[in-house]
Amino acid sequence: MAFCSKCGSQLNDGDKVCGNCGTPVPGAAHSGSSNDTLMGILAYLGILALVPYLVKDQPAFVHAHAVRGMNLFLLEVIAWVAVGIFSWVPVLDGILSSVVGVASFVFSLIGIINVANHEDKDLPLIGSVRLIKN
Ligand SMILES: [Zn+2]
Repeated sequence: MAFCSKCGSQLNDGDKVCGNCGTPVPGAAHSGSSNDTLMGILAYLGILALVPYLVKDQPAFVHAHAVRGMNLFLLEVIAWVAVGIFSWVPVLDGILSSVVGVASFVFSLIGIINVANHEDKDLPLIGSVRLIKN
């Protein structure tokens, strides 16, 4: 059980400010959101998307980004398979792998920026592609 650092009155679990004097409770307001941000960023780091995706009882914001990250990861796997199929074609091979590499990086970056800005929105272009829905 926690007590207010200023007036000493008892705090309930989850209180962000003291009910008596309004003093912010250290850590309470931000601990959840910084963890959400970390989990959200993991969603856009390739296979690490499995971490926020599989951990139960995530906030809706984190889960939505985990689903986006999983879809991005699957699309990248498909794209790399396609690159592999065309790897015998000179020039095209190099172009495809460059495009997939840059696109993967850019989409991950956009996703991470969305998480950092606490924006619950889809990725451009591929946002509507849902191999995994939830
Ligand atoms: Zn207080």
